[in-house]
Amino acid sequence: AQRRGRQASPCASPASPTLDRRGLRPHIAAMEKLTLTDAEWRARLSPERYHVLREGGTERAFTGHLNANKVDGRYYCAGCGTELFDAEEKYDSGSGWPSFTAPVDIDAVEEIRDASHGMVRTEVRCAKCDGHLGHVFPDGPGVNGLRYCMNSASLDFKPRQGE
Ligand code: FE
Repeated sequence: AQRRGRQASPCASPASPTLDRRGLRPHIAAMEKLTLTDAEWRARLSPERYHVLREGGTERAFTGHLNANKVDGRYYCAGCGTELFDAEEKYDSGSGWPSFTAPVDIDAVEEIRDASHGMVRTEVRCAKCDGHLGHVFPDGPGVNGLRYCMNSASLDFKPRQGE
């Protein structure tokens, strides 16, 4: 969480990640899916979280409660509780969204080509509930050179304790 990378472009960057760089592969159903009806999702999530997770929305930059969070701990899917990111991989990208160099597990997320809004991006979803988390861009620090640009609304944070 203490690392600082070079200034990254914002989430709206039209950059197109090079998926092969990290050896990404099609995800087999490694994780049991959580499938709820739309009514169940609406009952479970706040309107803001529903909009981001289930409708692919994006919170405004610098408004998310986890953007500037520097506390050591772990980040979980706000839809289903799956562990997604660790504070060890969080860094200040300057983008206004919580940014990570990698998920805790390649199988925790699914990465999908997103050609919406006149640009090609790679959408990141929770592998268990298919909730929209954000996008991944090829301008991050670290060995993989990736920036996982996430929405605070998609994440729950729990401080690390007793470690
Ligand atoms: Fe999830």
